Formats: sequence, structure tokens, C-alpha cells
Amino acid sequence: MVLWIIESSQKRRQLIDRSFRPCFYVQGPERLLARLAEALPARAAVSCVLTERQNIWDRQPLRVLQVSAHHPTLFAPLARFVRRFDSDLILYDSDLMLAPMYCWEKNVFPLARVDIEATEVAPGFSPARAALKGGATPPETGGLPGEIRSIVCRDDEWLTDYERPPVRTMRARLEGLSDVNPRHGRHGAMEVAIENDWQVLDDSDEPAAAAFERLLRVHDPDVLVTEWGDSVLLPGLLRQAQRRHIRLPLNRDPVPVASTRSRSYMSYGRILFKDSTTTLFGRLHIDTQNSFGADTCEQEGLWELVRVTKLPVQYACRTTPGTGISYLQMEVAWRDGVLIPAQKAEPESPKFPDELLLADRGGLVFPPRLGFFENVAELDFVSEFPSIMARFNISPETVNCPCCPQAPRVPELGYRVCQRYRGITSRVVERLIHKRRQYKEMMRDGIRDTGHGTRDTGHGIRDTGTARELESGIWTPESGIRNSGLETGGFPENPHLTSRAPSPEAQVPSPESRVPCPASPTPNPVSRNPSPAACKQRRDVLKWLLVCCFGYTGYKNARFGKIEAHEAINALAREKLLVAKEAAEQRGYRVLHALVDSLYVQKSEVRSQEPGASGSASRGWGLGAGGWGKTLPLPIDDGRWSISSIGNRQSKIGNCEKAADREIRSALPSPAPSPQSLAPTPQPLAPDREDYERLAQEIEQLTGLPLALEAVYRYVVFLPSKQSAEIPVPNRFFCVSDAGELKVRGLECRRHDTPPFISRMQCEVLGILAEARDFTTYCAKLREAREVYERYQAQLREGSVAPEELVIRKRLTKAPSSYQKNSVTAIAARQLDRAGVKLRPGENIEFIITDADSTFIDDRVRAWTLWEGWRGYDVDAYGKALANAFEPAAHFGKTVGGRQ
Ligand SMILES: [Zn+2]
Repeated sequence: MVLWIIESSQKRRQLIDRSFRPCFYVQGPERLLARLAEALPARAAVSCVLTERQNIWDRQPLRVLQVSAHHPTLFAPLARFVRRFDSDLILYDSDLMLAPMYCWEKNVFPLARVDIEATEVAPGFSPARAALKGGATPPETGGLPGEIRSIVCRDDEWLTDYERPPVRTMRARLEGLSDVNPRHGRHGAMEVAIENDWQVLDDSDEPAAAAFERLLRVHDPDVLVTEWGDSVLLPGLLRQAQRRHIRLPLNRDPVPVASTRSRSYMSYGRILFKDSTTTLFGRLHIDTQNSFGADTCEQEGLWELVRVTKLPVQYACRTTPGTGISYLQMEVAWRDGVLIPAQKAEPESPKFPDELLLADRGGLVFPPRLGFFENVAELDFVSEFPSIMARFNISPETVNCPCCPQAPRVPELGYRVCQRYRGITSRVVERLIHKRRQYKEMMRDGIRDTGHGTRDTGHGIRDTGTARELESGIWTPESGIRNSGLETGGFPENPHLTSRAPSPEAQVPSPESRVPCPASPTPNPVSRNPSPAACKQRRDVLKWLLVCCFGYTGYKNARFGKIEAHEAINALAREKLLVAKEAAEQRGYRVLHALVDSLYVQKSEVRSQEPGASGSASRGWGLGAGGWGKTLPLPIDDGRWSISSIGNRQSKIGNCEKAADREIRSALPSPAPSPQSLAPTPQPLAPDREDYERLAQEIEQLTGLPLALEAVYRYVVFLPSKQSAEIPVPNRFFCVSDAGELKVRGLECRRHDTPPFISRMQCEVLGILAEARDFTTYCAKLREAREVYERYQAQLREGSVAPEELVIRKRLTKAPSSYQKNSVTAIAARQLDRAGVKLRPGENIEFIITDADSTFIDDRVRAWTLWEGWRGYDVDAYGKALANAFEPAAHFGKTVGGRQ
């Protein structure tokens, strides 16, 4: 196993650990196992021993053959050999990634602080050998790896105030729009930055590859953060280097760069596209356009993800959080001595959180009452599904276990839950929930007292290096491992390091029992007290893991998947939501909307503007009007885990708050009466936070699940479906908290395909409305907002909108040639196809509507990357889109309150 570390002297060093002997287990008839135990050592350096491990489903001991590979590169080939040896054999632990297994065994994790004892140069390595491989030999590393004698972790992955390793980062991107795929034909020269000092590599003085090589050599970055580096930038540089005979070692390890091909795949009925990847050995490549949890240059979320899951960094940011959660589960199983079953089939393609939400959050929904409501509280079950898993011990192996026939039953379903063993999943989520809560508290504290020094926890840090397990060839799906310079086994063994205790429980202390270490004698080079923003990023990553954990319990291909566990969680969630709703109503609150794990409640005497109550022809919708309690899949843009497109506006709103306050007070001297006195009690009440807090506490006690008062809103506007003004839909609303923060769901500005021009108008309009305190001021603000809207329309008609403001982004659902109809997406895709751009289903394309009604089909839209000069845009089409985006703001101001 190859590790890269940063020593306390800042020296980067490559080290080899030859003591790692990954093993898998084989179950089958004894005579077959005996034959196998004879056959294997004849073929490879391997040890076979009969042992006992537990079966996950019934916790019974199973007699299995433990096969330990003497070299990690042998692990995957050995497993393949056993699979072919006899189809009666069942393999366990055989398809795991080696890097996490190494971490489990050594009690380390990526980016951890460690004490390492190592030799200067590993035996068997000579300068000639390293040079032969043609890799980089930066002067600092000396080009020769040392050999690890011992490695001891001085860190804990469950710590919240850990120190981040002092990595050197280099950034690279292409000039131009960063969100548009450069493969579609529009990009400028390459730009590279060290410490935000951007320079252009434009081939004019020297080829970009040569300039890039020089920068790499001089700055020797640990991390390369790119935009489109996976599919365009790095492959392009490598091609140029090859063409021009430039030596360009992107890796620190003397091995070639690893790459995978792009592919399209189906996931939950949607076609998605996964771009190709380019990963490095000895340094980390993060492509922010092709990764997950890696959006900012600080990478707080990603670092948190790899610490907790122990996945290799470059793999973690390119895979789904589901993989992370399954490795967390496997680690717990492995430490328990439980056999890890093989992936049941080809794992389903990576899923991103929005898809998981769509697929998995099929919870209980009470459609909203439509209208404008003042003083509404949102009560949220905090991490509801994970909390249920933790509290009720729901894990695939605990539902309907064979050991507890008398266990209490899950409501509705009658499933039993184990009383004897704590579920693996329950333990995993418990820790994640706990850590997430700690970050929440730190955020609160950090915001309360900013600017104080680092907290010294006395968690020891010795002056050895921070271990950086850069995945130096640790994972490749095919060969399992590609250890730089160690393609073959057969190096002399170190007798002191080859002994291996038979059971992992015996040799592996639990994380809690790690040796405490003395306080650091040297000051920490990097602050350990994360900022509130860092805490938020870390919390978000933990939240993704928790969301996916729920998804994976019902996922048919998951190793630890069992649909009954999934159903049990859903059933409990439904029951808890019903209990919460009834409890609120019994206490005199109106439940306006309830959605899987959140409730919008209002003290019933507070006034509201509802179309049903105004005596119009429409009936009262919402609760009790029939059709409620349906189980609905939720729209994708719930957006809780996506970055809010109105984030910038929010901070502005905060600043506007006081001014707006004054303005309203001067305009409206007294509690203004409702314009049409529609509501039962026209007198508005001051928001009563305490009452809502009490309600939350009472519901929490009744349900046994943590319930938080998420916010008290000055007002909430629940909007109907776009198709029919009478049909309520969950998740199409906006509201303004008592702190003046806007929350938007299901509107255009939350959608990724909305042109920036339209989004901007809507955000601006909502921002103005966010200054309103109640219905009266809302109506006043609406006039102001309408002026903004008219200004946008005028700008559009003048033809002065920049084309990039009108770009629409759509996902291709099929190959360009397979589109039958002339939809705008199809036309743009065909244009790109004709221009030689290879498009795959699931990819995003960008275009502008030029003349939607043109008889000449190709004139209707233009692919954005083929836009040359001025082509003009379709004023009517974009005007309609503007009107549609303004409608939600005006909907109730107009129909109920009467504008003007
Ligand atoms: Zn049981």
C-alpha cells in the first residue's frame, strides 16, 4: 500500500506499507474449501486458514476459509480465481476497495494525523528503478519511498475540531462560462492559479502543457482543483504533451494517469450521464464540475466525507454518498466479525441526493391549504428517517430477525424489530446524527462569539507528519490495486510485520479505545476551530450520508438492503407525522401543510387570506377536503440539500431588513386591518415563538423523535399547481422568516433550466416581497415588485438582454438522432450533433430560443456553444416566461387581496 504524507517539516514523502495483507472469506462444503486451500498457495503468495465469522442475517457463526493475499495486487485476481473455481462457493469481503480496508485494519483514515516510523528508503528500491518508470521525481520527495514500520493514528474521525492538513492547491479552468461543457465547443484558453493568482496558458509563448508542467514542478501542489478537468482539461493537456513530446508527469507516483470512460445510465426512470474521470496518483485531482461535495476551494465537505467514510478522496468526490454510507456500514460489520456479502449485482449507477429524494422520500403528504398565511411556524423532525433508524433499531438485519419472535410490531405492517442486537445501520446513523448535531451547536456558538482563538482540546498532535493517504494507485476497479512501482509481489518480507491476528476484533481496538496522546508541544499550523460556514458544509455532507442511508435500506442491490426495513421506516414516519398533526390540532393549531417530516402550523386565530374563505366559488382545500393523506413522491427541487440559487439574495434581504422595517412602520402606523376582512379574526397577533417552541417540545415527547422549530414565518404563500389554480401541490410555496429570510420551493428560480434573466427577475421580486410583514404591506410591496417586473419586460423588448442571460439548460433524454418531435431540446441537440459534438443521453445542453414559431425549424433555437455574433432572441417566448415567473408573486395578492 502506498501512502503520501506531509511531514511536520512540510516535506512530502511517499511511503510503502508492506504489512497489509487484505483478506476475504469463502464459504462452502468443507472438502471444497480444503481443495481450495491447497490450490491457492500453489498459484500465488497467499495464506489460507479455516476460521469462524458471523452471518449478518442470523448472527450465527459460519465456518469459512480466510484467504489472505500477501500483496494487495493479488486480492482481486485471487477473488476472481475463487469465483471461477467452483460455483458452490460463496465469497465474503471479496469485492471491497482496498484503501478503506487498509484504514480499518490500521485504524487510520485519509487526511488523518499519524505517527509513522519508517525507513529512509524501502528495501528493493533503487534510483534506477524509479527513473525507469518515467514519473515525477520532485526534489523534495527524493523520488524514493520509505517503508513503514509502524503507523499509529493521532486523530479521530469523529472529532469535530480537527486540523486540516496543510495542502498546497493549484486550480485550473478554462476561460469563459464555467457551467457550459467545453466539449460542446465553446471555451477559451486555460487559466491556472496558485493562491488566487490566475495566469493564462494560451499556447502563444509555449505549449500549455509545457507551462503546466513547469507550474507543477515549481509549486508541486498536493491538490489540483479544476473545472472540467476530468473530461477536457487534463486529457487535453496529456494529448498535447504527447503530440509535442513534452514530458508531463501529472502524478507524483511514477505511473500513468488513471481514466475512466463516460457513460449514460438509467436511475429511477431518468437518464443520467456520468462524465469520464481522470484521477492522479500521489496528488489529488478534484473536478468541481464532476464531483460531489467539492464546490469550494476549501473542500470542507469533501474532507469531512473522506474522514468519516475512509474512502479515497478522488473516489469519494466522484461517487454517490450511498457508497460512503455502505462503507460505513461495512466497517461496523467488519469490526463485529460479520461477513460482508458481495454486491448482489452490478451496482446501480451513482445517484445524487436529489434523485434519492425523489425515489425514496415517498412519505406522507397533506397538501397545503392554498393562500396567504401570516405567522406560520415550520416544525421539522430533525433527520427524521435516520432518527427512526437509530431510535427504533431499524437496520436491514434487525427487521424480522430470527431471534426475537415476541418483539413488538411496527404499526401498519406488523414487522418485528430485533431486541437483542443493535443494528449496524442504527449504529452508523447514530454517530452521524451525533456529529451533525455537534456541528450545529458549533455553528451556533461560532456565530455567537466570532473572532476568538482556537479551542485547545488537548488532543495530542506529535510532530510527525499529517498522514495523507493520497490514493497512490490504491483503487482501480479492475485490478483492485495498482501500487506504484509494486506491480508484482515477491519483495522480501519483513518478519516483524507479517504476523496477523486471526480475528479483526482481537487486533483492532475500537475507535473509542485509542490511546490518548499528550498535548501538542508545537502550535498548530492550521486553525482547528471551523468557521460557521465550514461547519455548515460539513453538516451538509453528513446530511447527504444520512439521506442516502435511508435510501440504501430499501435498495435492492445494496449489500445491506432489505425492503422491509425501508417500509418499516416509512410506516413509522407516517405514524409520527399523524401523531404530530393530531397533537397540533388538539392544541388549537391549524396544520396548513404537512410534508413527510415537516409541518406548517398556525395559531388558529391568526388571519389568513384563503380563496376558499373569501366566499369565492372554490371550496376550501387542504386538510379535510378529501384527497389528503396521499403518499406522493416529492418534486425533485425540494432543494434542501442543493445550493440555494437565491442564496445571495438572502444576505441582501437581511441587510434590507431594518430599512424595510422603518419604511413599513412609517407607512402603516397601527396594526393595519385586513383589506377585505376575510379572515375569522382580523386582528393580527404578534408571532408567538414560545407557543410554537412548546408545541414542538410536546410533539417531541409524544413521538420520541427530535422535533425542531425550524422557523416562524411572517407569512407563507402556498401556491396551486401551475396547471390548475384550484389544485394544491406540495412544495410550491415561498415564505419569509421573522428574521427576513426568504425560503422558496418549486418556483422557477430554484430550477436549473431557468435562464438567468428569468431567475434574476424572480429573485428580485421575491426579495422585495420579503420586506413585507403582513398581507397589507405585501400588497403595497407587490406594486413595487410589479415595477421591477415591468422593467425586465421592457429590457427584453428593447433587445438589450445579453444572450448568456437567456441560456436554457436541458438534460438530453436520448441520443440526438432518436428525438422524433421537434422540441427545442431536440433541435439544439441536432445542431450540436451536426457540428461534430458527441452527445450522450443524460448530458446537459444549453440553448437560446431565437424564434419559437419559425417555419424553418432550425431557426427556432440555437445551441449556445454555436452562437456566433448576434442572432436575436424570441421576445415573446421569454416575455411569457417572465410573466409565468411573476405570477406566483401576484397570485394571492391579486385574487384575494385585490391589487391596488
Ligand atoms: Zn432479534
